[in-house]
Formats: sequence, C-alpha cells, structure tokens
Amino acid sequence: MDCVFCKIINKELPTKVIYEDEEVLVFNDINPQAPIHLLLVPKKHIASIMEINEDNAKVMKRITKVAQDLARQNNIDKKGFRLVVNTGEEGGQTVNHLHFHLLSGRFMTWPPG
Ligand code: AMP
Ligand code: ZN
Repeated sequence: MDCVFCKIINKELPTKVIYEDEEVLVFNDINPQAPIHLLLVPKKHIASIMEINEDNAKVMKRITKVAQDLARQNNIDKKGFRLVVNTGEEGGQTVNHLHFHLLSGRFMTWPPG
C-alpha cells in the first residue's frame, strides 16, 4: 500500500523511533510546528478516526496511555500540550493513516487556523 506511515512502520523509510510497542509507533514530525511535535500512529493501517469501530477501538485507549507517558517523560504533563487529529480534507488531514499530533513546548493559540 502506498502509505508513507505504513512505510515508516515497516521500516521501509528510516525514522528515529521515539516509542514503539506491538500496536503503536511514535516518531518526530518531519515538519515540526512546535519544539515538541510527535506523531502517534497505530501500526495497523486505519485511514482516519472515521474508521474507528468496536473491533479496533482498543488502539485509541493505548494511544491515550502512550500520550500520557510521553507527556510525563517530556515534562509537559502539567505545563500542557495539544493532541490533534486532523480528519478529512477540510480538517487538514494530508496523510490518510490515522495519527495523533502531540504538540508542545510553546503556548498554543485558539482558534486554530
Ligand atoms: P496531517 O496533515 O494532520 O495529515 O499530518 C501529517 C503530518 O505528517 C504532517 O505534519 C507532516 O509534516 C508529517 N509527515 C509527512 N511525511 C512524514 C515523514 N516521512 N516523516 C515524518 N512526518 C511526516
Ligand atoms: Zn498506512
């Protein structure tokens, strides 16, 4: 499948792995929008959050736990961070493999662009 994140997961593309388990891979965003900009992705190809269902929902819980652990490790659990899931064209999704942006290290603004 022609999916850049599947290629990273399958080690066909090199990346510095920040965290890995059976279900989840975390790596740095290639075009960081904050001092910390990580991508948390399920290893299984799920196109978007619209594809989450009873059978694959477990990975959402796992990604939440990984995000909490990474927040503590980066000392941003109390300072704060932003977890973002862009979905679909108008939502700004450019890679059609579900991913959570974990952004931190600066003050975030609202509303987003
Ligand atoms: P989104 O626009 O929400 O779909 O996010 C896709 C993100 O993937 C963007 O922030 C890109 O900078 C990032 N990205 C695209 N290709 C790569 C890659 N090869 N390695 C790391 N991050 C990537
Ligand atoms: Zn994929």
